[in-house]
Amino acid sequence: MSEKRDYYEVLGVDKKATPEEIKKAYRKLAIQYHPDRNPGDKEAEEKFKEAAEAYDVLSNADKRARYDQFGHNMGPQGFGGGFSGGGMSMEDIFSQFGDIFGGFGGFGGFGGGGGRQRRPVNRGSDLRINVKVTLADVVNGVTKKFNVRRYMPCEACHSTGAKDGNAFKTCTKCNGTGTVTRVQQTFLGAMQTTSTCPDCNGEGKIITDQCPHCHGEGVERKEEMITVNIPKGVSDGMVLRMEGKGNAARRGGITGDLLIQITEERDPELIRDENDIIYNLMLDLPTAILGGKVEVPTVTGRARITIEPGTQSGKILRLRGKGIPSMRGGAPGDELINIMIYTPEKLTDKERKLIEELRDSENFKPNESIKQRIFNRLNHIFG
Ligand SMILES: [Zn+2]
Ligand SMILES: [Zn+2]
Repeated sequence: MSEKRDYYEVLGVDKKATPEEIKKAYRKLAIQYHPDRNPGDKEAEEKFKEAAEAYDVLSNADKRARYDQFGHNMGPQGFGGGFSGGGMSMEDIFSQFGDIFGGFGGFGGFGGGGGRQRRPVNRGSDLRINVKVTLADVVNGVTKKFNVRRYMPCEACHSTGAKDGNAFKTCTKCNGTGTVTRVQQTFLGAMQTTSTCPDCNGEGKIITDQCPHCHGEGVERKEEMITVNIPKGVSDGMVLRMEGKGNAARRGGITGDLLIQITEERDPELIRDENDIIYNLMLDLPTAILGGKVEVPTVTGRARITIEPGTQSGKILRLRGKGIPSMRGGAPGDELINIMIYTPEKLTDKERKLIEELRDSENFKPNESIKQRIFNRLNHIFG
């Protein structure tokens, strides 16, 4: 690699240039050295690339700051992005900065700049389906089958649209190239524009006899049974993509994708909070006082947990790892059991008598120091 020129020098701007000044300077150079204006001129092409490289760095606040600090050595992380390896390709420049010429008539056939031919690529549309999953599906992963109606390549004509796959003639307007080139006069001088051939829509050939099966479309609508493997840990609203299971493109091209949108069904008992599960446990008063075992639902079935004597309302018990598996391979979430103590709403005469006796017991009255101790322990409710 030859010695690189300073990027500010390349664009002819001051080190304190604003983003607008940088964009303006680049646009001027890009038009001046554009390959369509300088066909076959190697030096112009190099200048065109050099300007694009400088613009790539100086138009990005992050890259610019690193460049200002480290210069062409780029600092510890390098610049990445097809750039540190010694310049950008023409293709990169057109795809990244094509819009710099926006509203500038002369560069209509931009993708084909530099004298190369590029056929437009057909892409079929994406299909979208909605899939409902239960909490158990989320925990275990699930395989579901769907009948999807989608466009598939026509087998009779090998998706060409021509009878038996060979009833074509070469397009005479573009001689089979799929593009037509015109020379236009603009205020910048003569400008070559390349556009898709209108006679053959860029295909380079014209069907003489249509495939009777698909009426020349090259695709036919069929129902297909599709098996979808839904991984563990998905969540509501997530969209999974199955490549190539959408609609096929007309007469060859790239098939679209199938997008699977996840809808989570609400569980009657367990509440999901990201990868944790929350369960509100309604605990009876005697067990809260005396302690004991109770059964709680978890994502993998029921579990027996121990309640310590003297358990307070608002206490949270944690079942580690009993939450949702992580999609990224980390630790699963936990189940948090939120204890609420049930106060009886009606009593028999005998029960009322027993409770009335207890009312006068000192142990049933929270004094100030006990209140303070309990509130301190339960401060997670408010914190
Ligand atoms: Zn066909
Ligand atoms: Zn043509």
